[in-house]
Amino acid sequence: MLEIPQMALERFRHARRVAVLTGAGISAESGVPTFRDAQTGLWARYSPEDLATPQAFSRNPRMVWEWYQWRRQLVLEAAPNSGHLAIAAMERRIPGFRVLTQNVDGLHQRAGSTRVVELHGNLFVDRCFREGITLDRVIEATDPPPRCPFCGGPVRPGVVWFGEALSPRVVQEADAVCRSVDVLVIAGTSGLVHPAAGLPSRAKAHGAFVIEINPEPTPLSDLADATVREMAGSALVTLLDALS
Ligand code: NAD
Repeated sequence: MLEIPQMALERFRHARRVAVLTGAGISAESGVPTFRDAQTGLWARYSPEDLATPQAFSRNPRMVWEWYQWRRQLVLEAAPNSGHLAIAAMERRIPGFRVLTQNVDGLHQRAGSTRVVELHGNLFVDRCFREGITLDRVIEATDPPPRCPFCGGPVRPGVVWFGEALSPRVVQEADAVCRSVDVLVIAGTSGLVHPAAGLPSRAKAHGAFVIEINPEPTPLSDLADATVREMAGSALVTLLDALS
């Protein structure tokens, strides 16, 4: 029997404005590995921190592009799990509901969530590495990565890499959400990647009740008002059931 503190269930049930901040852990049950999981197969000898940087792309654009192609494929073969689906159902039940996600896999949208702030971009969006602009159309090259149709520069995935700044518009939106919520649920994030990891303390400072769902303790555990040491899938279904 899954235990969620009664106080957390009550606060969640009566909240008018709720946001869920998600990280890679919520997609782990869909078979999409987190960055803290050891990489497998072809990519086992690289750490994501050595591939997901502008420096890595400058040094070896082909290798980084192929790693992202592999990740895109993994995500395309995956399906949203009960955690993503419970979050999408919450949006239909709670008027001021928002998802803030660090994930780049689009699984929240595939589960039916429509009010999603993607803090770190999306794997399936292409951008010009030189100009930073989003591209609807790219020129496929025999030697990947593809090329920008405007400047001929290499095309990169539209995600935020380690060492890069988040879009100021997105940060502002996430910040505004955190300042306005009654309850913030944090699910499947290690709380190590900033500035996303600073959002829970922002919400708490503005009076939100913070619920953390993660099988492991994290640097965010101490500030959480309630911690649920469970997998995101089952814990989010239990929270959703509390609305009935
Ligand atoms: P992380 O890899 O640093 O940490 C994952 C966390 O999820 C850990 O604390 C782990 O204990 C927890 N976890 C694992 N399985 C879980 C489950 N079933 N239920 C609940 N929690 C579970 O992830 P992060 O905090 O998101 O930060 C890493 C960065 O890498 C982020 O920018 C993230 O977007 C990106 N990333 C994204 C994806 C994706 O889009 N699916 C995958 C890997 C990494």
